[in-house]
Amino acid sequence: MALTGLQIYKLLPQTNCKQCAFPTCLAFAMKLAAKQAELAACPFVSEASKAQLEAASQPPVRLITLSTDGRKAVAGNEIVMFRHEKTFYNRAPVFVRLKDTQVDIAAKAKEINEFAVDYVGIKLHIDGLAIENASGDAGKFAAAVEAVRGATNFPLILVAKDTAAFEVALAKVNGAVPMLYCADESNWQAMAEVAKKFKASLAVKANGLEALAALTDKVKAAGVEDIVLDPGARGFLDTLTLATQIRRLAIKKNFRPLGYPIITFPGEGVSSADEEPVLAAQHIGKYAGFVVLDNFTPALAYALLVLRQNIYTDPQKPIQVQPGLYEINAPKPESPILVTTNFSITYFSISNEVEGAGLPAWLLVADAEGMSVLTAWAAGKFDADRIAKAVKTTGVESKISRKRIVLPGAVAVLMGEVEEALAGWQIEVGPREAVDVPAYLKLKP
Ligand code: SF4
Repeated sequence: MALTGLQIYKLLPQTNCKQCAFPTCLAFAMKLAAKQAELAACPFVSEASKAQLEAASQPPVRLITLSTDGRKAVAGNEIVMFRHEKTFYNRAPVFVRLKDTQVDIAAKAKEINEFAVDYVGIKLHIDGLAIENASGDAGKFAAAVEAVRGATNFPLILVAKDTAAFEVALAKVNGAVPMLYCADESNWQAMAEVAKKFKASLAVKANGLEALAALTDKVKAAGVEDIVLDPGARGFLDTLTLATQIRRLAIKKNFRPLGYPIITFPGEGVSSADEEPVLAAQHIGKYAGFVVLDNFTPALAYALLVLRQNIYTDPQKPIQVQPGLYEINAPKPESPILVTTNFSITYFSISNEVEGAGLPAWLLVADAEGMSVLTAWAAGKFDADRIAKAVKTTGVESKISRKRIVLPGAVAVLMGEVEEALAGWQIEVGPREAVDVPAYLKLKP
């Protein structure tokens, strides 16, 4: 956990000698806390204080990056228990597990790789594949890894029980930086050696937090820094309990042995495939780093990825689209101009309705700092001046033959002001709900 300026000050020599170029040790401490100075600027910090300060500057949950050909799956670096305290930073990567016994594994990998959906302007997709050595045959494992690498650039998690299988398979990852799953009490030394040799992340598994913490300490002491946790739980209640305890210990107590992302396998904790996405949703919310699914369908993946997107959206930064003039269904000069704000969901609600109805229209998106229509109006960010400014800056007048603007129904109160700001324009008040816009446009084309 980051230290405050005062906590840092207590670790400094407190002689105010000014050699760090700051007038006092306290001033230097404040700059350190704000990450605007380097500790090395003070030549008099004791080794003990240095170690304490460096440890405190580490993130409470280590950042783990799996990569392949520049494509990355990243987990960790979280600093809060609840999103509203600040934000969650790295969306838990969602992987799908394929087994090396699967017929035509490359085709399946390709199918998953091709899945992508557009959600309020954000591309959502699966983040990687876990390949399991279910056959127990190292040669088949390596062939499966090679086939997947040839078919996709997915980041990888390799799942096997013995290091010999990993050695053969890792020779086929072709530059990828995967995660190895997993080391346990019986094999951690050999697993740590393989992870170090191939610079891979290493998942460690133990039943219960004490055993897990003891194991991560040993693996770290063996030279592996990039560790992922599997606390052994699989069901709804026990995964929730252990994941919450791990997160709390890492963030609130700065307990280093559990300061790593968690990997979960929701398919192993349910009695039917239908329940897997429900448990996966729980894991995404609290507090999985990597989620490995056993079943992939586009519908389930979409639901999980949208859920994840919403959880990991910064609550202080609305999702926005670029203000400007958007064309829907090749509008003509006489087509109506609909006005809205640049909050993504507002924009996509309107544009999807109008586009889906096959109606041509101009969509004038005013800069309302990413707020929805009513919120922006209440905050003074969506008013006649902003609408008039959008009309001028987009140059919409040069594209139309009819000066007609349709305001959102929720801000009918703006009509008089907009009429004043846009003299010579016909101002109308449209429906309150996006779903009613097509019917309105059919009545008043
Ligand atoms: S160099 Fe160190 S001891 Fe001297 S003022 Fe700066 S922080 Fe204090």
